[in-house]
Amino acid sequence: MGIDQRGLLARLVKELVRLPGVGQKSAQRLAFHLLKTERDEALRLADAIRAVKDGLAFCRQCRNIAEGELCEFCLDPKRDQSKILVVEEPSTIYAVERAAGYRGLYHVLLGSLSPLDGVGPGDIRADELVERVKAGGVEEVILATNPTIEGEATAIYLTRLLKPFGVRVSRIAYGIPVG
Ligand code: ZN
Repeated sequence: MGIDQRGLLARLVKELVRLPGVGQKSAQRLAFHLLKTERDEALRLADAIRAVKDGLAFCRQCRNIAEGELCEFCLDPKRDQSKILVVEEPSTIYAVERAAGYRGLYHVLLGSLSPLDGVGPGDIRADELVERVKAGGVEEVILATNPTIEGEATAIYLTRLLKPFGVRVSRIAYGIPVG
């Protein structure tokens, strides 16, 4: 079934289709679903989106998602302050938390080195990781960048960058397996 391209429903479809992984067909299905849903229930989704955009920011220390200045892990004194696990995206943190008994801290790069896309060392804020190591107390940095060419290049870059600071650097593969 097609949708009138000028209508209110078409406007919703146009917004939904911008989401990652949502094609035109899924967007139409979601739009029709929301149309049939009770008003309160549908608006709960709108409210949840607004709350996330108004209430969340990035942690000042590790750049994970945070409700205040620091995220839940940086705020937790029971976490092992001597370990930093480096990930590309905040979503990987939650995968790590679900998977294993890691009790250290995190550092989120919010990307990976990708010279072809113009993403250089300054864009992944590797310096912020170095600053944390230089501040002392960190014994081990675990690189959990994605198993992609960009993720590997980032891990190699960070290993070299951290070498002068006498911290143990290890590599671990989380995220989406390749091949
Ligand atoms: Zn944090």
